[in-house]
Order: sequence, then C-alpha cells, then structure tokens
Amino acid sequence: MRSIASRMSVMSGEGALSVFARAKELESQGRSIIHLELGEPDFHPGPSVIESAAKALADGKDRYCPVAGLPALREEVAVYLQRTRKISVSGANIVIAPGCKAALFFAMMALLEPGDEVLYPDPGFPGYPSITLGLGAVPVPFELASRNHFQPDLSEIADKITRRTRILITNSPGNPTGTVYTDAVQRGLAELAVKHDLWVLSDEIYARIIYDGEYLSMLRYPRMPERTLIIDGFSKSFAMTGWRLGYTVAPPEVAAALSMMAINSYTCVAEFTQYAAIDALRDREGNTPRMVAEFARRREQFVHDLNKVPGFRCEPPEGAFYAWVDIRGTGGSAEEVCRILLEEAGVAAIPGAAFGPSGKDFVRFSFASSVANLKEAAARIMKVSAAWQGTLVGR
Ligand code: PLP
Repeated sequence: MRSIASRMSVMSGEGALSVFARAKELESQGRSIIHLELGEPDFHPGPSVIESAAKALADGKDRYCPVAGLPALREEVAVYLQRTRKISVSGANIVIAPGCKAALFFAMMALLEPGDEVLYPDPGFPGYPSITLGLGAVPVPFELASRNHFQPDLSEIADKITRRTRILITNSPGNPTGTVYTDAVQRGLAELAVKHDLWVLSDEIYARIIYDGEYLSMLRYPRMPERTLIIDGFSKSFAMTGWRLGYTVAPPEVAAALSMMAINSYTCVAEFTQYAAIDALRDREGNTPRMVAEFARRREQFVHDLNKVPGFRCEPPEGAFYAWVDIRGTGGSAEEVCRILLEEAGVAAIPGAAFGPSGKDFVRFSFASSVANLKEAAARIMKVSAAWQGTLVGR
C-alpha cells in the first residue's frame, strides 16, 4: 500500500509560517500589514559580499566542491570564531551546511538512536522537538520561566536527566525569549553534561546579536570541546537568510559523520555562496556591528512602547531581535490577542505556544523591522488594545 512514513505525522511546522501565510492573504485583499512575525533581519549583506558572489560565479565557481565545505571557508570560520568568541578550533572541526536548520537536523541524525531523550528549552525553536520526534527520539522540555528571567533551571534539568538522555540543547541568545544564559548557568549546564556524559548542541545562531557584555560560547567551559557541537550560520549575523548557509563545529568523529550525511544528502553547499561567506565573515565594512547597533536602538524604543500597552509586559531582551511579551494582563489568550492584532490592527505577531507549552501566555514580535514600522505597529496596537480592555479583561 502506498503511504507516507509515520515519522512525518509526528513532525510539526512553524507557527511563524502560518501567521505569515494569513498575513499575506490579508495583504492580497488590500490590507496594510506590518510583518513582525518572521525572524528575518530587514538588512541585506554588504556590497562586498554581493561582489564576491558575482565574481565567484564569473570565475566559474559553480561546480561540485568539497563535501565539508571549501577549505578556505572552514579556515575562515575558525579565524572568525577565535576573533569573535575566543574559541580555538581548526577548519577540520567545521562542516558547512545549507543553513543552520539543516546543520541541526544532520547533527541530531548523527547522534540520536530511537528512544534517546533530548533535553531542549521550552519555549524554544520549534525544530528542536519536531526533529527529535522525526528521528524516533523523545523530546524532554526544560522550562524557561519568567520567574527565572527565562534562564534554564539547573535543578529541573538535573531531575530530568535519565540514562536515555543523549543530547542537551542550549540556545543563547534564545529564540523566542532573547535570553543570554548567564556564566553560572552555562557552567552548571556544562557540569551536568560532563557528569552524565551528554552531547551538548549549542545553537549559537544569535551569538553576534547581543546588547551587553561579552558572548560566552558553551565551548569555552571545561571538557566541552569533546562533547559540544556549535550550530551557527549566516542567516541572522550577516542578514543572509535566503542564502542557506550554516555550519557545525564538532569534534573530529562527529565532523566525519556530518560529512557522511552531506555525501548522502546535499553533496556540498553552492560553491559561489561559500566565497561570498568568506567575505561576510571578514566583515571589512562593519555591517554586523552596524546592524546590531540599529537593533539596539529599535529594542529600546519598541520595548518601551509595548510596555505602555494596557495588559502587556515585556522585559528588554538581552540578545536576538524578539520582544517576548507577557499578555496575561489583557485577560485574553495569546491566540485571541494575536488574532485581534492581525485582523483588526494589521500587525502580524506569533502566539507564544508556537514555541512550546510554556510560551502560552506570551506573544513574540520581531523588531527586525524599520523604526517607522515599529512606531506605526505600536500605535496600531495601542488603538486596538481598547478591544481587550473592554471585552477580555475581567472575563
Ligand atoms: N536556530 C534558531 C534558534 C533559529 O531561530 C533559527 C531561525 O529562525 C534557526 C536555527 C534556523 O536558521 P537558518 O535560517 O540558518 O536555517
């Protein structure tokens, strides 16, 4: 009988994409929509990155190329990580992938047996539990609670470790909360990983987008290099979402397994994009710091404006470009609030449950949008907040 494999029924999509689809539908009916649902910088890579891609194409760099990525790019990633994260890895530890999501997927496929347990943050990136389930493994959420300022709770995690626990996923700065894990929390997580001999999958895709202090990679803690995989890429730090470029930093035996995954799936990442990626990492034009400075300005203004909305409460995120708003004061559910925002105010945002059950009282707004858009969005939200002041509060 012809059928779809059962693993497909346990995987799930992303809330952001369904809100985006409805927002597009409204736009096609002539409605004005401010898109704050997608996690996509409203910047583009600098001119030298575009020129490098064009030159590589003109030079015929459009062939199959090394499976793990161009040696020059892998070396450049190592230099970049030393400069920006003070970690020492060699190009041999790095495997280039078509996006962070693919890097995450292949890393989990390389490490998990059916029935293994994966500890992951809730709320968190929807791919973590979905990929886990798709591989026949068991997702085990740990809560990022507002009472803990969205930091992982070490004792909760310790209690949830069993002999089947194989991977601990960390994501700092985190999507959707914007939390940067403290040094103490990361040290504690590293100690748990060593004690229970776990793999750590450190999703560092937002590492460059932080608003205070120095970034601490999980790889910097004792005995982490032998058990940690860093997932990172070009989508957020270099505003290159559509280029589909990511990478994994892994111990040698895992890097070899990831190359085997590449051979059996994508073969290699498009050669000319890898030349452009070298240029992006060098960032001679200062594009990344300029973009982050702009996000910092927007964060300041947008969080301030959101906190003026009746029923909304938002702590300024320490990293990434999301405002994670506690909407309990509105008296309504996040789904109701998002429906009013989209249908009546033309502001697209995501109900927090899209990031896991612990997100149910929150709404995520991306502030990777112009200051003018954010000001207009805040004004529109303020206007429709009368809806929940009149009807939702006190129900
Ligand atoms: N990890 C996190 C935490 C993300 O927020 C995202 C994208 O939103 C990804 C991974 C996937 O990134 P990419 O676009 O490189 O596949």
